[in-house]
Amino acid sequence: MMEVVPENAPEHCPGTQSEDAGKASACAGCPNQTICASGQIKEPDPDIAKIAECLSHVKHKILVFSGKGGVGKSTVTANLGFSLSSNPEQEVGILDIDICGPSMPRIMGVMNEQVHSSGYGWSPIYVEDNLSIMSPGFLLSSPKDAVIWRGAKKNGLIKQFLRDVDWGELDYLLIDTPPGTSDEHLSIVNFLSKAGIDGAVIVTTPQEVALLDVRKEINFCKKLNLPIIGIIENMSKLVCPKCQHTSIIFPPTAKGVDGMAREMQVPYLGDIPLDPLVGKCGDNGKSLPHTFPTSPSAIAYKNITEKVQKFCLNNVAPTSEDTIN
Ligand code: SF4
Repeated sequence: MMEVVPENAPEHCPGTQSEDAGKASACAGCPNQTICASGQIKEPDPDIAKIAECLSHVKHKILVFSGKGGVGKSTVTANLGFSLSSNPEQEVGILDIDICGPSMPRIMGVMNEQVHSSGYGWSPIYVEDNLSIMSPGFLLSSPKDAVIWRGAKKNGLIKQFLRDVDWGELDYLLIDTPPGTSDEHLSIVNFLSKAGIDGAVIVTTPQEVALLDVRKEINFCKKLNLPIIGIIENMSKLVCPKCQHTSIIFPPTAKGVDGMAREMQVPYLGDIPLDPLVGKCGDNGKSLPHTFPTSPSAIAYKNITEKVQKFCLNNVAPTSEDTIN
């Protein structure tokens, strides 16, 4: 079982499930010491086994992270899903756990759908024959409604999505998480500790201010022993849809995303241009890879998707030769 290390724990935390939890020298001064020492969190959560059972027919589970909001994480998740499902042999699911900002139903063109339940659990909404989605957005009576939940209630819904959705047989489940490294991230990693996670994809834009938060995200993954499939640089440059001229919108002021990835020894999966067609497809709930398959952004998604698949199928991290320039 994966050792759970809270975000606010000191560097040498022995893990909240360990025998030394709350008693090790590293625990001195830790804000969680009382609860860890009490042994309350050592009791295995019975739902973790139920989640593993529910997801036993899902071959690969991938978390999609971003350090900051507004970097296009949900759009990237949606287009990775569309790209993976363009192979009709593959069954793909997308789980949206961005509880307070669920944008996936709109991006995928299923905004007015409602979740139905059967004897097997909640049925996901089918975008295509081999692409399904579950989102808290389906539980709201109006897309304008705000979800004002915190802590336990949010974690309870994430657990319910993992335990009670009847995905059927899936090749890939992409899990779109909220920005940052919050409670929800720790919860999902804990809830999936028995079911297993292939790894995380981290989405960022090229500005240094975004990269600062990506470094935190990378450290978060390393602390949780969560494999990093790689970093995706989104909105890296503008490719004019008419003349195909490329303009660099955010020229790197330091090492840039690929330099930062090298420095932190994580794979760089490639860059996706800032493309008006991406926004158009997202606003209209259309698949970019299917609607504009020859656009530079659709080609970038295809290349990145191949690397993600390669990682999942062979458990091999992409190499620098795989990098898209
Ligand atoms: S008290 Fe708990 S969270 Fe803090 S360092 Fe010890 S085991 Fe880790």
